[in-house]
Amino acid sequence: VAARESLNIVVVGHVDHGKSTVIGRLLYDTKSLPEGAIERVKRISQEKGKPFEYAYLLDAFEEEQKQGITIDTTQLQFHTEQRDYVIIDAPGHKEFLKNMISGAANAEAALLIVDANEGIQEQSKRHGYILSLLGIQKVYVLINKMDLIGYSEAIYHQIKKEMHEFLGNLQVYPLKYIPVSAFWGENITLHSEKMSWYKGEPLLTALDLFEKDRGLEDKALRFPIQDVYKFDHRRIIAGRIEAGTLREGDEIVVVPGRKTTRIKTIEYWAERDKTKHSQAGMSVGITVEDEFFNQRGEMIVHKEDIPLIANTFKANIFWMGKRPLQKGQEYKLKLVTQEVECEIYSITKVVDATTLAATEDAGQVNTNDVAEVIIRTKREICFDEFRNNPVTGRFVLVDGYETCGGGIVSGLVEGLKAGS
Ligand code: GDP
Repeated sequence: VAARESLNIVVVGHVDHGKSTVIGRLLYDTKSLPEGAIERVKRISQEKGKPFEYAYLLDAFEEEQKQGITIDTTQLQFHTEQRDYVIIDAPGHKEFLKNMISGAANAEAALLIVDANEGIQEQSKRHGYILSLLGIQKVYVLINKMDLIGYSEAIYHQIKKEMHEFLGNLQVYPLKYIPVSAFWGENITLHSEKMSWYKGEPLLTALDLFEKDRGLEDKALRFPIQDVYKFDHRRIIAGRIEAGTLREGDEIVVVPGRKTTRIKTIEYWAERDKTKHSQAGMSVGITVEDEFFNQRGEMIVHKEDIPLIANTFKANIFWMGKRPLQKGQEYKLKLVTQEVECEIYSITKVVDATTLAATEDAGQVNTNDVAEVIIRTKREICFDEFRNNPVTGRFVLVDGYETCGGGIVSGLVEGLKAGS
């Protein structure tokens, strides 16, 4: 049986704008709820003298999971014919940001919810900013509670316009805006008759239109050298293929030095691995035609798709250090197998991970803050933008023996020449 495709999504938005209700609706409409959950929610809603509260379905779901065996993380899941959806639960922004930046969680797409009646709030903006910090590009904005504004097309367009302007400044370009009433199920599963002016898809259909990222094996080759072993007269370069595919005879470049050669042989640790190519996730040893000096920290890539090579770059970091991070301070930076001294060249913006309030021109970054920084390494290193490759676009900062920060590369610094 082929594995079903799965997509991780995160749902963000100002408190009370309808996150739980949207999720509850999706679970309900796709029949993804545990047995008895609906009855339980009916009962609780009645006891509270309220109409059926879809938001409570989430609690029922989580309760069910806690009684099960696996309770380490509550993962809400629902299914369409096309694929499985996993909702990355964000108990707090702090955990979410930390997990995303460190790679413990991976939201591939996001739903940003705005209450049509209240309009865009400060917190809606902050959530938009978070999406930009994390490089999440697959975003739909749901304009919710349309029932409260009489399903007004004019108000929908007004909010859409404001949101589009704001997000555009952050280089976040939502793929769709969908007017919904999560509570009444309008434009969730079926196209809403109350909003016949809306020509787009209802949410569930739209979700299936999110294109899944290419898998690591389909990306450009990234083979960081872990070690070089000498056997008899041969040098075997060992490592784990982090992305792409490697074949005997391939023309390769060793970066950051940019020496070129060809792959002579792929050596396998086990006989059963023997295929003519090796791809992302496999640990292999190779020999190359020109045996110039190679060492740990270099990366083998294909000529036609080399990574960024620079000593200065922009990054978004999550700071975990006991002491605040200060401009000019030096740390050790680890990016796949590269290890290099680096300096925090400048701090562009600091974001309090609890309130998501941002400060520009801050002198330091406190524990659990997120920051946009410029990092300068002692020598050139090779990497990718995080949005192009999550493995070679992610690094950690180390202070002595303490891992004090995690970061993702957001891009090169314009106007600063590489290597200068
Ligand atoms: P969250 O804090 O973002 O998770 O918001 P909830 O999902 O808990 O919703 C907050 C309140 O708004 C609840 O009382 C919901 O019933 C209500 N609500 C959510 N969606 C809608 C909607 O489409 N229309 C109306 N009228 N109320 C809604």
